Amino acid sequence: MTNRLLHVLLRTESDVFVARQRAREVAVAVGLERQDQVRLATALSEIGRSLFTDRGGPPATAAEVWFGVNGGKLQVEVVAVGAGQVEWLPGLGRLVDDLTIDNGPTTTVVRMSRRIPVGVELTPDRLDRIRADLAGSAPRTPLDEMAEQNEQLLTALEETRAHRDDLARLNAELEETNRGVMALYNQLSDELEETNRGVVALYAELDERSAQLRAASEAKTRFLANVSHELRAPVTAVIGLARLLDDPESDPLTDDQARQVSLIRGSADDLLRLVNDLLDLAKAESGTIEPNWSDVDLPVLFGLLRGTVRAMTTGDVELVVADPEPPATIRSDEVLLAQVLRNLLHNGLKFTAAGEVRMTATRDGGDWLIAVTDTGMGIPAELHSRIFEEFYQVPGSPTGVKGTGLGLPYARRLVTLLGGALSVVSEPGVGSTFTIRLPAAGDDGTS
Ligand code: ADP
Repeated sequence: MTNRLLHVLLRTESDVFVARQRAREVAVAVGLERQDQVRLATALSEIGRSLFTDRGGPPATAAEVWFGVNGGKLQVEVVAVGAGQVEWLPGLGRLVDDLTIDNGPTTTVVRMSRRIPVGVELTPDRLDRIRADLAGSAPRTPLDEMAEQNEQLLTALEETRAHRDDLARLNAELEETNRGVMALYNQLSDELEETNRGVVALYAELDERSAQLRAASEAKTRFLANVSHELRAPVTAVIGLARLLDDPESDPLTDDQARQVSLIRGSADDLLRLVNDLLDLAKAESGTIEPNWSDVDLPVLFGLLRGTVRAMTTGDVELVVADPEPPATIRSDEVLLAQVLRNLLHNGLKFTAAGEVRMTATRDGGDWLIAVTDTGMGIPAELHSRIFEEFYQVPGSPTGVKGTGLGLPYARRLVTLLGGALSVVSEPGVGSTFTIRLPAAGDDGTS
């Protein structure tokens, strides 16, 4: 030990009190923090008590204690003579930074040290002064030391209690927070369960509704098919009879009778058209129509339509069927496709008083776009979806225009069947364009 500051001689157990007090004085003098002062004094006191009692072996006869400073540490060295032994008590090592106990048969040496806080300047001068101060201060009585020790104990107890209170408060807060989190979690999972139940119920209802809808739609289709089928024969008979009555070979009719017979024929024709349209639609809806897939040559189909539809044109409306750029084939059902296009061309001519009705076909990637554009009366935007409903006809159509309101729903069904889509763009007073988008490769899984 280099810078020795104080030497204390212990002969009996009561001297341990003095050693404890002196240890604290030295610790204060070299600038150890309060807790470290108490720790060091306690460690020395424990070692002293162990030496002078028969704990760990027979008591020592005497012991010398040296306090000194070395390498930024306060060092304490205890050399006991006689049989004194130091018991290694649990926790003793934790009171100081270093501790070695060398229990010999006749001499026991204990060394311990505690680090001096950074910033404490211990110059030789300062050490001299400390040494002088310590030498000048007389040790107090064991009673004084006991009182001091009690006070320290009380302070330590107080600090422990404060710590415990803090801990208890923290625990309470944590418990509170946990309870809050649990309550929130429970509430959330309740809500989730509730929502899930709602969704499940909704789905069940949706399933039920769509099953009902499907059943209703199937019933409607069946009804339409049956009724129109049953009606076709009598209506055809009425037309035949009317034709017979009107025949030049039959008995001549008066002018009135001839007018009435022609009215009957006209009405029966209308009825037959409606019955036929209904039957077509019912067939398309029931899914019994199987497209007959083949490579359809569009210019050939367009040529046929040009020929058949031309008969419907009047002098004020020009029909333009523009042949697409070759090669122009589409994988489709020629009869069904022709039926749809004829329907669109008829509508165009029906609802156009002047101008033109034009049919074009253009490629758009893997699709064909076949458009029928007219310069007719047009359709208000809010009715664009309604015209695809069965029997719907835009109010205010020109007089003399015949129709059933079944053509467009049927056309859309057929286009869907062919793997495509039918859409409309129209503006009142400007005209309409009905466009069919169809995959050039068809929808039958070939080519
Ligand atoms: P229909 O022509 O037999 O009445 P559709 O289903 O083909 O039945 O058409 C439904 C309605 O849509 C028509 O009654 C008409 O009001 C309207 N419409 C269809 N095509 C055109 C068109 N090119 N221009 C104007 N209105 C049209």
